[in-house]
Amino acid sequence: MTTPYVLPPTLKSLRNYVDGEFVSTDKRFDNVSPLNGEVLAQVHEADAALVDRAVQAARRALKGPWGQTTPEERAKMLHRVADVIERRFDEFVAAEVADTGRTVQQAQKLDVHRAIMNLRTFADLGKNAQTDFFETRTADGDNLINYTVRKPLGVVASISPWNLPILSMTWKSGPALICGNTIVVKPSEETPSSATLLAEAFHEAGVPPGVFNLVHGFGANSAGAFLTAHPDIDAVTFTGESRTGSTIMKTVADGVKEVSFELGGKNAAIVFADCDFDAAVEGVVRSSFANSGQVCLCSERVYVERPIFERFVQAMKARTEKLKIGYPDEPGVDMGPLISRKHRDKVLSYYKLALEEGATLVTGGGMPKFGDQRDEGVFIQPTIWTGLADNARCMREEVFGPVCHIAPFDSEEEVLKRANDSVYGLAGTLWTTNLSRAHRVARQFHTGIVWVNTWYLRDLRTPFGGVKLSGLGREGGRWSLDFYSETTNICVKL
Ligand code: NAD
Repeated sequence: MTTPYVLPPTLKSLRNYVDGEFVSTDKRFDNVSPLNGEVLAQVHEADAALVDRAVQAARRALKGPWGQTTPEERAKMLHRVADVIERRFDEFVAAEVADTGRTVQQAQKLDVHRAIMNLRTFADLGKNAQTDFFETRTADGDNLINYTVRKPLGVVASISPWNLPILSMTWKSGPALICGNTIVVKPSEETPSSATLLAEAFHEAGVPPGVFNLVHGFGANSAGAFLTAHPDIDAVTFTGESRTGSTIMKTVADGVKEVSFELGGKNAAIVFADCDFDAAVEGVVRSSFANSGQVCLCSERVYVERPIFERFVQAMKARTEKLKIGYPDEPGVDMGPLISRKHRDKVLSYYKLALEEGATLVTGGGMPKFGDQRDEGVFIQPTIWTGLADNARCMREEVFGPVCHIAPFDSEEEVLKRANDSVYGLAGTLWTTNLSRAHRVARQFHTGIVWVNTWYLRDLRTPFGGVKLSGLGREGGRWSLDFYSETTNICVKL
């Protein structure tokens, strides 16, 4: 057995980054490893005064040389930041792995890779963005031309979650900055390390002071609330729980600030009897248990057409029981721990509730026993249920752990009604080899995203977001450029 992946010594004390300087504070909190409960680092919590300094620095930077930069210059800068991340790739991987316990392979191939792609893609999209142009003739015979110009929103507040830390932060910072804004980011209190490295990358890349600022802390009564309540921010981009999104919306309502929300999900996967069976089993195992089920897009509700239901459940059970749980750098490891003890308590409470609600446990349902020091980590078994009623709490509430319920269905109409019967609407997945059905069903999902015969493959030029409690607005590609810009129409009489 290998030892847990440890944080590089440089990340033992995590400071804020404000106005181009790393800033210490007196109030500190622990960054705790989910692998063994050890304290990885002391995090310097920003108070209201430091958050104010960050917002004021961001405001000043807008009025300084940054405000005069062209998209080409900003694109070059974002590419320079991406270059630094590439050069310090292993440190970023170590930071992500240490904070979350995820597999090294995931941190390399998904998280840090995507961080680089986020910065590079939005740099190029922003540099090459087109604006609109219309020729108009009025009823009186006047000839007009109308064209649009994009301007920055101003100071953007960005609040991110712990489940995909560096991926989420760069997904927001890249487009915000290419559009000419300045930004104050607050990472989750659970995952402060890669955000601190990102601040180092901005510093090393020579980005002017005040353009990118980082404040550490919690939500309520801490940096998150101080930032979103600050009167001098212009917009909030938030990823996290729906309840938190609602709190932030109330906070910014009086100032009528722009918001973009990527929130929770209770996503459905629909498996038709005509699917490629093995690909569907593999795909649903992935969509249910990736990142220990801690992806907003994970399928917690799986509906399988009755003729293949029993076979599918047995195949899912067999495949799930082969998943290897363990330390991030163990050979062949598939799943790491959950993010924290508190979160595991929450997930375990759903494991208990499901049985009280009448679920049949197909596999999992508890914590793995290793018989070594891995028992100190926040590991949990991937779990499959059947037999729950559609209105059970475990069928309606987001668990955000490695869990899915599998239910049989008999018709397209029935399954769509059940899949769409949710307060959430983030992502739908369907598995079928019938082309017409794929297109027909896909557009009837009441979600912002649909995957057919795959899950979580992304083209960053496409829109991303949810409906209902899953979010507000879309980001990705030109949708990000639209959100992070004020568009002004200019009408000229010829
Ligand atoms: P969370 O809402 O608890 O926290 C997210 C961030 O908000 C953290 O940085 C936290 O400190 C901050 N925060 C909390 N309360 C705040 C307040 N009152 N004011 C300002 N900031 C506050 O979410 P989490 O537990 O970190 O993340 C998991 C959730 O995120 C899940 O519901 C998941 O579905 C969702 N998520 C959604 C997407 C998406 O794209 N739709 C992506 C990732 C995660």
